[in-house]
Amino acid sequence: MRSIDFDISLAKGYVDFEALYTGSNTDRPLVVVNATRANCVSAFVKKVFHCCWLMADFDGTLTMGSQWDDARNLMGPERAEVDRVALKRWTESDRSFQSECEFIFGTVDLLCESGLTQGQLFAVARAQRPRPGALELLHSFELSVDGSEYPDHIVRSFIVSYGMDCYICEWASHNGVFAKVLALKLRWDKDSKLIGYYADTVVVGTNKGNKAKEVHERFGVIPSLQLVLADAPSDKDLFHDKSVNVLILPHTEVEEAISKFRRKGLPDVWNLVDAILVGDSLEPLYEMRRNHTAVAKLGQ
Ligand SMILES: [Mg+2]
Repeated sequence: MRSIDFDISLAKGYVDFEALYTGSNTDRPLVVVNATRANCVSAFVKKVFHCCWLMADFDGTLTMGSQWDDARNLMGPERAEVDRVALKRWTESDRSFQSECEFIFGTVDLLCESGLTQGQLFAVARAQRPRPGALELLHSFELSVDGSEYPDHIVRSFIVSYGMDCYICEWASHNGVFAKVLALKLRWDKDSKLIGYYADTVVVGTNKGNKAKEVHERFGVIPSLQLVLADAPSDKDLFHDKSVNVLILPHTEVEEAISKFRRKGLPDVWNLVDAILVGDSLEPLYEMRRNHTAVAKLGQ
C-alpha cells in the first residue's frame, strides 16, 4: 500500500485558507477543507468517497498544460502571434459570452487557415500529460458490469471544457478513460482537414453552468453525490451548491499570469468550494476514494 504523502487541514474562513496556503510546503500537496461546508476533515473525506459521479474541467485540472497552447504551436508563428494578442484581449475583457465565443472561434479560424489536420491535433492531444493521480481518479468512477462478454459501461465522468471536443476525446481514449465530453465540436473535410466548428456546441465560462445542469438532467446525476473539479474561479458555474466542489491550485506555475488568473476571484468562490487542493497532484483525492478511513485520520 502506498503511503499517504499530503496534508489536510480545516479552514474556518478564507483568511485561514490564505495563511495555510502561504505557509504550505511546495513539495507536498495540501488539502484545505472549508469548515463552513464540512464541519470536520473526515466529513469531507467521506463525501468524496461516496461520490458516484465526477464532473471536471480539462485544461489545468486533469492535465498540467493547455490544449490552446498546443493548438497555437500548430498554426505557425505569425498566426500564433495573432492568437496571442487575441488571448491577451480576452483575458482583459469582461468575459461575456460574446467575447469568449469570439476568442475561441477566432482561434479555430486560424487553425483552419493553417491547414490543420486531425492527425496533427490528435498527436498533440495524446502527448498532453495528465496530472498525477488524474487517471486513477477518473477510473475510480468507472462502473463496469461484470458477467457479460463485453463490459457494459455507464457514464460516470463528465469533462466540461472551454476547449475542443475531439482533442479531449482523443486524450481520454489514449489514456483509457471513459468519459462524456462537453466541448466545441470541430468540422473536418473528407481528407480530415479542419474546416470549421459547430457553434451551438461551444462551452465557455458563462454557459458551463447550463451544461452542468443539462448533464444532471440527462444522466440522472444526483448533485450531492457528484465531485466537481476545476482549476479556476471562472469555472464556478460548474459548482452546484449541493455538489462536492474542489478547486485545484497548483504550487508550480509556468507563467505568473496563469497563477494570477487562478487566484483572481478566489475569495468570491470560497463559500462554494468544499476544499482547495494546493499542489500539482490529484492523488490526494484518489486516496480519499481508495482509503477514506486512513485519510480521515490525517485530519485528527
Ligand atoms: Mg481550466
